[in-house]
Amino acid sequence: MTSLWGRAQRVTPGGVNSPVRSFAGVGGEPFFVAEGDGAWIRTTDGQRLLDYVQSWGASILGHAHPSIVSAVQQAAARGTSFGIPTEGEVDLAEAIVAAVPSVQKVRLVNSGTEATMSAVRLARGFTGRDLVVKFDGCYHGHGDALLVASGSGVATFGLPGSAGVPPAAVADTCVVPFNDLDATSAVFDERGAQIAAVIVEPVAANVGCIPPQPGFLDGVQQLCRRHGALFVLDEVVTGFRVDRAGAQSLYDLDPDLTTLGKVIGGGLPLAAFGGRADVMDALAPAGPVYQAGTLSGNSLATAAGLAALGELDDAAYRGLRGKAMELETRLAEVFATAGVTAQVQRAETIIGIYFSETPVTTYAEAKRADVALYRRFFHALLRRGVYIAPSPYEVLFVSLAHTWDDL
Ligand code: PMP
Repeated sequence: MTSLWGRAQRVTPGGVNSPVRSFAGVGGEPFFVAEGDGAWIRTTDGQRLLDYVQSWGASILGHAHPSIVSAVQQAAARGTSFGIPTEGEVDLAEAIVAAVPSVQKVRLVNSGTEATMSAVRLARGFTGRDLVVKFDGCYHGHGDALLVASGSGVATFGLPGSAGVPPAAVADTCVVPFNDLDATSAVFDERGAQIAAVIVEPVAANVGCIPPQPGFLDGVQQLCRRHGALFVLDEVVTGFRVDRAGAQSLYDLDPDLTTLGKVIGGGLPLAAFGGRADVMDALAPAGPVYQAGTLSGNSLATAAGLAALGELDDAAYRGLRGKAMELETRLAEVFATAGVTAQVQRAETIIGIYFSETPVTTYAEAKRADVALYRRFFHALLRRGVYIAPSPYEVLFVSLAHTWDDL
């Protein structure tokens, strides 16, 4: 009998529907998941694994949470998609607007990529400017304009990060080192009047976990204000993960636009972008910036999202933070006991591991960490029934379902 992996490779490029799942980052063959329950998953080979990926942060309640299962079942019984407004869309939009003060209006989409892509188009349409500034090491999905290779040096213009992205598509994207306010300021000095938006992850969570340096995010926000550019905070990872009001509340920021995903869909395909009402009203049909979607605000996804947000009160975030701190402490103990030099970096409720002599504050430093050691660590954990991200440039996600024993 052919293995699932053999079958998958025959009919799907690289055997997977999203590259990192292929284990290319750690070597070996990926497993297939059959089902999940709370913090745990069971593979199609019958192995039980403690899951620290949790659908890349989407499953904050853990797998198959009863509230989400029941909400989705009830929604499905009423019909899976209409392409006509539903009450659930209004309920979820209201819940987001109520939770995140900078978001006055919000539009629901299907993925984080769509959210960031649409936010950039909106910023360009609203400001009438073309240039977008992003930071190296920050990932904002696979839209052309944001899929730009990170640059060394102060700022790099227009280097596509993938085959198939024409140089013209990224010619108006400027890449600046994350956590480097001076470099950002220099770009504004030179081209401030052309900059439509700066987009940034408040915590760089796609190169391990790099917290923002004090003053960096606020400094970027101030530069945007001074030069009439929009400040776009990509909270696809951090939104409803570090706090109900996102990283922007913890870091005291007031972005013009925010992108959300993962947690707000309760594990179904749902994401959003929102912000200032005057900016959001530039979207069609209210305004001239076109954006649309057959499945946007899908009724199963809004039901799951509402169920998830319904579980996330202050106590939940206190609990999640406590668990993340426990995991951080335990990991540091394990490495110390083993005599392995590692940096366990926690930003609020998100954790990254670098096999590095010194703390990692930039993408350049992240790339210097010992990747071979991460691979060994990954496989050693997997053999012991613990699943962490199959790539050294990802983070560990604790869910509310992880027990102290699990940790
Ligand atoms: N922004 C950030 C910060 C992300 O981490 C991701 C994906 N991990 C995206 C955008 C893209 O989201 P999606 O994979 O849903 O397209």
